[in-house]
Amino acid sequence: MRKTLIAGNWKMHGNLDSLESLVSGIKGQLDNSWQCDILVCPPFIHIDRTIQLTKGSKIAVGGQNLSEQDQGAFTGEISGDMLKDIGSKYVLVGHSERRSLYHETNDLVAAKYAKALEAGLTPVLCVGETLEQRESGTTMDVVKAQIDAVLSFYQDNAEGLEKLGQGVIAYEPVWAIGTGVTASPEQAQDVHASIRQYLSEMNEAVADKVQILYGGSMKAANAEQLLAQKDIDGGLIGGASLKADEFIAICKIA
Ligand code: PGA
Repeated sequence: MRKTLIAGNWKMHGNLDSLESLVSGIKGQLDNSWQCDILVCPPFIHIDRTIQLTKGSKIAVGGQNLSEQDQGAFTGEISGDMLKDIGSKYVLVGHSERRSLYHETNDLVAAKYAKALEAGLTPVLCVGETLEQRESGTTMDVVKAQIDAVLSFYQDNAEGLEKLGQGVIAYEPVWAIGTGVTASPEQAQDVHASIRQYLSEMNEAVADKVQILYGGSMKAANAEQLLAQKDIDGGLIGGASLKADEFIAICKIA
């Protein structure tokens, strides 16, 4: 049985004051005996503080991005080792905003995925199609290419699959991110099942094990139906994760 993971992507929001109240709001309503795993991904500069504030709770903290480099003269970059060193557990890679606004290619995302694993972090590989791609019927081609880039980064497919099994996949249709338009539970389940099917053709154990999260305008009001789908193992939540009550309501459903 796969565990449910509820992850908040705080993007570039907040300051130290709002961070304190968001974390205390979440912690105050959190029951550490809940089944689901909980992750929050603050902006880099707030990770350290968030780790301090969440100590002793079941909340894991992660980054939203990392460098594909180890260390060196890469002004403005943050490495996987640095994230690990301050206590991060996870890191998002290939979020659609990174892909579209910062021109991250499938190959670069794959390199970042590998660096995350090398650093001992769990990468959350974000995949998903644009509205145009969906309408032209190429959703699975796009998603498969995003997954294939990770597989082909390694020596062979077997090693790639093993590495994919050590991470988490987040299916986030670009047209649903921050738009208020959520994929219907059927639309999401359809892609999640296709991803799992694609993996199971290569390695059934990895396909069974890997958590596939849904992201894109998930909120308390639609979480129950989405999370009830067989192949949806959690959520990657943007806007709704910035409100403690809303985020906790989703965790409770999970
Ligand atoms: P959203 O963002 O929940 O605000 O749509 C999701 C994400 O970008 O991960």
